[in-house]
Amino acid sequence: MQAVRFIGVGRPPQIQDVPKPSPGPGEVLVKIGRAGVCHSDLHVMEEDLGFTPPFTLGHENAGWIAALGQGVARFKEGDPVAVYGPWGCGRCHACQLSMENYCENWAQVTGFGGGLGLDGGMADYMLVPSARLLVPLGALPPSKAAPLSDAALTPYHAIKRALPHLHAGSTVVVLGLGGLGHMALQLLRVLAPVRIVAADVDDTKLDHARKLGADDVVNNRDAVAAAEQIQRIAGARGAGLVLDCVGVQPTLDLGAKLLGRNSTWTIVGLGGGHHDFHHGSTPYGTSMSIPYWGSRVELMEVIAMARDGRIHAETMEFPLAQAGAVYGKLKAGQITGRAVLVPDAVS
Ligand SMILES: [Zn+2]
Ligand SMILES: [Zn+2]
Repeated sequence: MQAVRFIGVGRPPQIQDVPKPSPGPGEVLVKIGRAGVCHSDLHVMEEDLGFTPPFTLGHENAGWIAALGQGVARFKEGDPVAVYGPWGCGRCHACQLSMENYCENWAQVTGFGGGLGLDGGMADYMLVPSARLLVPLGALPPSKAAPLSDAALTPYHAIKRALPHLHAGSTVVVLGLGGLGHMALQLLRVLAPVRIVAADVDDTKLDHARKLGADDVVNNRDAVAAAEQIQRIAGARGAGLVLDCVGVQPTLDLGAKLLGRNSTWTIVGLGGGHHDFHHGSTPYGTSMSIPYWGSRVELMEVIAMARDGRIHAETMEFPLAQAGAVYGKLKAGQITGRAVLVPDAVS
């Protein structure tokens, strides 16, 4: 079968022919419907994050069950499923709470999940090591579901943690309106009665943000002007939440200027920026956090919201074989919403 492979740091992904896997005891084979193209894959390919090549990329996956390994019950062939991305030990306290993103034994578990150290979903089929990592989609088609497993789950988890700060009259600033940001706006609309300010350096994405629920949009190419504009909107209270979906130095520097007392500053983007956090560096009461991905139960909740029409992933679809070009477009800021790859067999 065709697969998009990570073959080493500093090298472009390669389309390779690899054997179709067959599920062993407890495992499940998923026929991929769509695989999302995430910015973090660029970090995997361009920086040394400690992953050992080669493996198949793709950590945002949805499709249909193609085959069940021995002992797997309560699923049947053809069931539409999303694949929960962070794969933990499955036994520790965090994993039992479905928060495999915070598995206590992460250092002993091989890889972070399919597409992140282990074979992922940018292929015709994907082997999932346990049925516990599958979430049934019900009436939601896999074509609408793949990006939910990261682009929606990650901001959902981040926003839920900040909900005590998100009451009527408070302002939330979303920095970066790519895959995660475009879902964050919709999630905030559903979850909190807040004023939403969306910021990006791309005017096309700002127009899009208005349609997705932003009350105000700000181009932050000029960081000084953007900070002043957002400070005016948020008023003396400052932003109750700054959700940074980029995480580069300019967005961290901007975020630091937007906080008020008792604000939450959440950085989910992997841009590598830093902030020296100490008394005096931010207003009193600031909580700074770097949440990672989300829990399996939260993925179920995100899928339920999409099924009910409250949120939707906006996608641009491309054939699997174009993966290399699609990563190029992502890097160049030419993707609106989320790019997804479609295997030949389902296109
Ligand atoms: Zn991702
Ligand atoms: Zn665990």
